[in-house]
Amino acid sequence: MPAPTQATFDRLRALAAIDHPEQRESRDVLEAFTGEKVTTIPVGTVEDVEQAFVRARRAQKQWAARSAKDRAKVLLKFADLVNERRADLMDMAQLETGKARQYAQEETLDVAMTARWYGKNAPKLLEQKNTAGMLPVFTNTRVRYQPKGVVGVIAPWNYPLTLAVSDGVAALAAGNAVVLKPDSQTPYCALAAVELLYQAGLPRDLFAVVPGPGGVVGTAIVERADYLMFTGSSATGATLAEQCGKRLIGFSAELGGKNPMVVTKDADIAHTADGAARAAFSNSGQLCISIERIYVEREIADEFARAFAERTANLALGAGYDFTNEMGSLASKSQIETVAAHVDDAVAKGATVLAGGKARPDLGPFFYEPTVLKNVPEEAICFASETFGPVVSIYPVDSVDEAVERANDTEYGLNASVFSGSTKQAQEIADRINAGTVNINEGYAAAWGSTAAPMGGMGISGVGRRHGAEGLLKYCESKTIAQQRIIGIGGIKGIPRTVFLGVVPPIIKALKFIGR
Ligand code: NAP
Repeated sequence: MPAPTQATFDRLRALAAIDHPEQRESRDVLEAFTGEKVTTIPVGTVEDVEQAFVRARRAQKQWAARSAKDRAKVLLKFADLVNERRADLMDMAQLETGKARQYAQEETLDVAMTARWYGKNAPKLLEQKNTAGMLPVFTNTRVRYQPKGVVGVIAPWNYPLTLAVSDGVAALAAGNAVVLKPDSQTPYCALAAVELLYQAGLPRDLFAVVPGPGGVVGTAIVERADYLMFTGSSATGATLAEQCGKRLIGFSAELGGKNPMVVTKDADIAHTADGAARAAFSNSGQLCISIERIYVEREIADEFARAFAERTANLALGAGYDFTNEMGSLASKSQIETVAAHVDDAVAKGATVLAGGKARPDLGPFFYEPTVLKNVPEEAICFASETFGPVVSIYPVDSVDEAVERANDTEYGLNASVFSGSTKQAQEIADRINAGTVNINEGYAAAWGSTAAPMGGMGISGVGRRHGAEGLLKYCESKTIAQQRIIGIGGIKGIPRTVFLGVVPPIIKALKFIGR
């Protein structure tokens, strides 16, 4: 095992917002490649969350009083530090999740890009704006944005660096404090990332990390937060939405997906097979925006299936803290059990395995081959339910219309992909697919990496958006301040009330005439 060393874990453990960690119950943290224990993490309590909120509320007042430009400097410094310390962060992400190094790198780049984008753009987006008032000239109206207060973030294990801190970075840019619960499997990634925030100059109480179980620490956060950002399963998202609804606090969630790819008959087959492999097997398929269904026009279906199966079978699978492997391990025992159950179920119900289809205990306890299925019947679990693993099914279709219809035949609506020889046709297909992001000639990265544009899900794939202006302003209360001058809304001094009320309708009509 490379770095991180025990000294690194000890240093990071001290950053958790848990008082007297040595007196607490602890949980084992495993190296995913081997399934062996490498260290422990203290388990937080409701009291820890309470303390974190008390400190965060105090710190937030001073943070909000600083100018948006001043706050942005901390984020820009953080982005530089993430780039400088990329290798350490990648080691930690690989250790806790078993992902191939290129996907650990993808995470670090994403954190840095997001922090840089908000660092550069938040000050402008947060400026107060003048807007048209009720009565031209006589009503002066402006809108200003003020932070919500303390934002709660609950994060999953699959992209434990970026999903733990990138949403928090936007909340900070808007002037909020953050209390984060990382996934119990991946607490050290979150701590390694916030260590760099602190080194960039962020006061420690402004971004507290409280590790611990969702049902305890997560619930305590939801009960105290002024806004909640959640990434995880649709089932947990629905529970949290209900809890937030009861408190009438804002809520945003990026949830699961059963993401489709449409391949038209004039697509370049080699290029599409390569793109499909990235789209389906990045991060071992444990990616909310991963492709799990491919609809391909019948004319090229066999040729595409052959090329894709061959590319899949040749993917370099293995453990290692370098860039040799294209796919790593799954993250846990429960992940490999779900993946194996979905494949076995599909095969038992008549599906054909074109590539992969088995666990690889020779490589590590949670390794499973990238798997391509065909002839998956509707009764199979993986026909409509998310596997969240390296399993993708190919479905030949008779037309683009059928492909679009089947792509949209889902409760989910997170991400989609289109490969076509015609840009015009690809754009038209993209317009017709119900998903928060659609990638053309790519599986997921083009839309996700367009940090200036909103990203999120339709249907049971989510509520709200991250990235771009929407991902910032959701952490603000918009406040409208309207000043009435010269003439009042209730009347004009010296003009009888009945006369004034008589001229109101013509004034409204005149406003319409001048385009208001
Ligand atoms: P999960 O069970 O929903 O867990 C995600 C987080 O929620 C963990 O930190 C978990 O804590 C916490 N949690 C669980 N129950 C909770 C509760 N009752 N109250 C408060 N917090 C609670 O999700 P998962 O199965 O680990 O993650 C995979 C899922 O996430 C997939 O469905 C995937 O599609 C989705 N996902 C979506 C995106 C996206 O951007 N759309 C990104 C990544 C993942 P503990 O586990 O530590 O107890």
